[in-house]
Amino acid sequence: MSNNSGVDLWNRAKEIIPGGNMLLSKRPEMFLPDQWPSYFEKAKGCEVWDLDGNRYIDMSIMGIGTNILGYAHDEVDESVLRSVKKGNMSTLNCPEEVQLAERLLELHPWADMVRFARSGGEANAISIRIARAAVGKDKVAFCGYHGWHDWYLSANIGDKENLAGQLLPGLEPNGVPLNLKDTAFPFEYNDIDGLTALLDSHDIGAIKMEVVRNFGPEDDFLVKVRSLATERGIVLIFDECTSGFRQTFGGIHKHFEVDPDIAMFGKALGNGYAITAIIGRRDVMEAAQNSFISSTFWTERIGPTAALKTLEVMQREKSWELITQTGGQVKQRWENLADKHNLKIKQWGLNALAGFSFESRDAMKYKTLITQEMLAKGFLATNSFYASIAHTKDHIDEYFYYLNVIFKIITECEDGRDIDSLLKGPTCHDGFKRLN
Ligand code: PLP
Repeated sequence: MSNNSGVDLWNRAKEIIPGGNMLLSKRPEMFLPDQWPSYFEKAKGCEVWDLDGNRYIDMSIMGIGTNILGYAHDEVDESVLRSVKKGNMSTLNCPEEVQLAERLLELHPWADMVRFARSGGEANAISIRIARAAVGKDKVAFCGYHGWHDWYLSANIGDKENLAGQLLPGLEPNGVPLNLKDTAFPFEYNDIDGLTALLDSHDIGAIKMEVVRNFGPEDDFLVKVRSLATERGIVLIFDECTSGFRQTFGGIHKHFEVDPDIAMFGKALGNGYAITAIIGRRDVMEAAQNSFISSTFWTERIGPTAALKTLEVMQREKSWELITQTGGQVKQRWENLADKHNLKIKQWGLNALAGFSFESRDAMKYKTLITQEMLAKGFLATNSFYASIAHTKDHIDEYFYYLNVIFKIITECEDGRDIDSLLKGPTCHDGFKRLN
C-alpha cells in the first residue's frame, strides 16, 4: 500500500462523484488539499485509522459533531447490532420510534409531538413545511445554517451575499426555482431591531434560528425573539441540530429558558447513526397531518435504537458536562499559548464546539500549517475542536505539546519568516468552492 491511498482515492472520487463526496465539511480541501488522508478504515474513541494503517488522534471536529460519546461506542454499537440481527426493516413499524418520541418529550416538557427524519437538512425542511402549513404563510425569517434545501438556498436568489453572513459564503442558488425569491429572509444574531424591521415589512409565518452558533445571546435576545413571535402569531423554530446535547441534556434553549414552538435535533442524537428529530407543540405539529411528509427510510430501526442508547449513556455519563469542561480547558490553553507566543487569536463557539482564528492576513495559511504539521505528528487537527467524552487529558496534553512548536513557527512568520515555503501544498479552502 502506498502512503497516500486516501489522496489517490479522493482524486478518483472527484472523477465519478460530483464534488467528490456528499458533505462539504468532509472534503479534504477544507483541511489540507492534496495531503489529507481523506478516508478512514476504522475509528474508535477519538482515534481514526486511514487506509494506509496510520493512526490519528482526532482533535478536530469528530465526525462533524456527530460523536459526543466517541467513535464506535461499544454500548451504542451493541444495541444497534441487536436491532440489525432482529431486522432493520419490515412492513410493520419499529416500536423504538415511539419510545424515542416519549424520551424526547420527557426531556422537553413544552413539546407534545415528534416526527423523525435522518438528516438535519430534511428535518429543517420538514419543520418549515409544518410551520407554513400551520400558519398558512410562506415567508420565513432565518438566522444560521439550516442545510441544503430549496427553502433555504432561495435566500440567495437575487443577492448571493444573503447567506454569506450566516455560515457559508459562496453558495449559488442554481437549480432553486426563481419563484422562491423573497420567501426566505436572513437576519443577524443579536439584532432585534433588524428582525423587527424584517417582520414589519414582510408577512412572515416562521422564524427559524440556531439558538447559539459562534456567540451567545445578548440583551435578552432570545426572550425578545420569543415575544415577537408570540405577539405576531409566528411559529418560532429552534434548529438545535448542532447545539443540542452539547451543554445541556437536550436543547440548549433549556439553558436560556426560552421555549420555541418547534425544535430540531440531529448530529449527536444517534452518536454517529443517522437520526434527526422534530419536536413541537401539538397545535403546530398537527399541521403535519394536513401536509404530505413521508419517507420510507424514516421508518428504519437503527436510527431510533442508536438514539435511545445514546441518550441513556449521555444521561449516565453526564456527557454534556464532561465535553463542556474539556472544551473549556482547550479554549483556555489556546488562549495561554497565543499569549505566550504573542499571537492574536479570536475564539468562538460553545466550549464543546470551540474554534479560533489568527488575527493575521495569513490566517488561512497558518490554519493549513497547523493541519499539515499536526498530521505529521499523528493528529487530525484544524482550528476547531469538538469535544467528546473519549478525549482524555493525555490526548490534550500531547496535542498542546506539538501545537506549542507550531505557534512558535507562526510567530516567526509574523516576524517575516516565509510561510509559503513551509507549506507543502495549497492553502485550505474557506466556504464553498467548485472542485475541478
Ligand atoms: N442545521 C444546523 C444547525 C447544522 O449545523 C447542520 C449541519 O451542519 C444542519 C442543519 C444540516 O444538517 P445535515 O448536514 O445533517 O443535513
